[in-house]
Amino acid sequence: MAARGPLASMDVDKRISMARYEYSRCREAHEKFNAFITIRDMEEVLDEVSSSEGPLSGFLFPVKDNIAVAGLPNTCASAILDGYVPPYDAHVVEVIKKLGGVVVGKTNMDEFAMGSSGETSHYGPTLNPWDRERVPGGSSSGSAVVVAWGSHVALGSDTGGSVRLPAAYTHVLGLKPTYGTLSRYGLVSYADSLEQIGLFTRYSLDMAYILYYLMEYDARDMTMYYGSRRDEVRNQLQRIIDGEGLELDDVSIAYSSQLIGLCDTPVSNMVYKVLDRLESLGFKTVDIDMGFVYPCLSIYYIIAMVEASSNLARYSGENYGMRIDAGSYWDAVTYTRSRGFGDEVKRRIIMGTYASSKGYEGRYYIRALKGRRWVKENLNRILREHRFILLPASPRLPPRLGEAVGPKGYVLDIFTVIPNLAGNPAITIPAGLVDGLPTGVQLIGRFYSDAELIWMSSILEGAIYDPGLLPG
Ligand code: GLN
Repeated sequence: MAARGPLASMDVDKRISMARYEYSRCREAHEKFNAFITIRDMEEVLDEVSSSEGPLSGFLFPVKDNIAVAGLPNTCASAILDGYVPPYDAHVVEVIKKLGGVVVGKTNMDEFAMGSSGETSHYGPTLNPWDRERVPGGSSSGSAVVVAWGSHVALGSDTGGSVRLPAAYTHVLGLKPTYGTLSRYGLVSYADSLEQIGLFTRYSLDMAYILYYLMEYDARDMTMYYGSRRDEVRNQLQRIIDGEGLELDDVSIAYSSQLIGLCDTPVSNMVYKVLDRLESLGFKTVDIDMGFVYPCLSIYYIIAMVEASSNLARYSGENYGMRIDAGSYWDAVTYTRSRGFGDEVKRRIIMGTYASSKGYEGRYYIRALKGRRWVKENLNRILREHRFILLPASPRLPPRLGEAVGPKGYVLDIFTVIPNLAGNPAITIPAGLVDGLPTGVQLIGRFYSDAELIWMSSILEGAIYDPGLLPG
């Protein structure tokens, strides 16, 4: 049986009978591409599926290994958390279980979600199913790969592009919702002012359906937005799910030929093709100056590293995972942290500590915070005039293994960090293959335009990409 059509539109019995096929695709993705860190047994998963009830029954959920699932190891792909099993579920996982969904396992990722290629995992790199010599993008590498290989949905997290970049590199949809839409309770913090749990699917309808249920309010995340805009988003999602769709008048989409010019030629050609297609579908596209994008990478990396250095202070060997006993308390902490963290994580802790330390914070951290406000103002100024901004998801095609490890990979995030700095939602929409390699464009919207972004992707489904296209 092949995975055809959105799961959201099938009746529950059909979905349950699809689950066996989906499990086999997950298992294959694990064996061929190292997509999981922990994968549950088939019997156990299918037993739960057959006794499940609710709107999410029949859906299998691969969950990124930085989102807590009670009873399953939660390693964040780091040696320092090897063996740590959380006793509780993240809020989104509670909702999934309550509504009949079943967690199939924990997916591979860059260590502590720091990376753009899926290679910094303590459990080895994730491979790209379109070309095993290339990276699938990171940090939510395993989740993207599992969906590309046939699962209908997976959960990731997006601090600076970790859902949208691997979505482009594996040819699936990837959504970073508006900051405050999905509860971060149970998501291991890397840089909490920037990150959101995000979703991968192949079909827009599945994206609307899953987001509708997962965006339940949760008071345990104090940054969660609670207000009428939440109900509006849900009503819009409901209209998409019911097949009524949204009426968006006078849609104008801003892009920047200057920024597109920074990309590798196959990528810029692809973006212009998408723009042509949008025009032929009746949307207005406008080339504007987006000079504010240039400093975004530096601003993002300073803030992300400072927050990381503070968030990761808790891994001292006292409370979670690895602990190396040594003579004194401080020796134990030092040995545990030096052995437990990988190189990229150490680099960020050191840089982040430096950038926020007394005497230097004015030159780096505080300056970055001012820059962040300026980016936000610029982005929202453009979005007052135009409904969406279209950018490439990445300036390059998927790099070969080893080409994007460490700081040389940072540049891949140039277009994805922007909405994280501002809090706006953004979606990666696949845009076909170039030389057999997947590409994608990113659409950024106004605050709480999550449903509109999904609606746009549903218009482009079939017009610029085929959601039924699977690698291999
Ligand atoms: N590549 C970016 C980083 O390493 C983004 C990662 C993410 O979104 N988690 O920080």
